[in-house]
Amino acid sequence: MPTTRQIDKRYRELAQYVRTIADAMGMRDWTTTFLSESPTDAEHGLTASDGLVIQADSIVPPGRALAIIRLSGNLWWTEDLDHLREVICHELLHCRLWPYNRIVDTVRGTLAQQTYDVWNEARRHAEEEVVNALAAGWCVTLPLALPPSPSAASPGGGSGTRVL
Ligand SMILES: [Zn+2]
Repeated sequence: MPTTRQIDKRYRELAQYVRTIADAMGMRDWTTTFLSESPTDAEHGLTASDGLVIQADSIVPPGRALAIIRLSGNLWWTEDLDHLREVICHELLHCRLWPYNRIVDTVRGTLAQQTYDVWNEARRHAEEEVVNALAAGWCVTLPLALPPSPSAASPGGGSGTRVL
């Protein structure tokens, strides 16, 4: 169980890492915020009890270049930094698409609810496919500049090294 100090340190490291990835993805004009809240999918009401674990999510307030990223607890402490890098890249790509999604959402009132639901689900699925493919290809070019989590370090200090 991480200590409060370790959690605070990891929060700062992850927030900085999101910033680093955003910069490398050409989002220097964006503000990034990393929140220590669990990700959710409020629109679909998905939770871990539904058998689907939401690993991460992202929010962009209307009219702002503000990427808000949330990661599940297991990603905070993962030793699989390649996967973490891909997840952050994936969420930042979704952030880039939020303005597009807002425009698409304007048809909501013009369609019958059932039609909108089916169409919107197809649109979300298509976006997910595209974001997955782009993130998989792009993430390998992005920095892996995150220190290992405390759980990855051996007791007494250092990843696999012995302090004498
Ligand atoms: Zn996604």
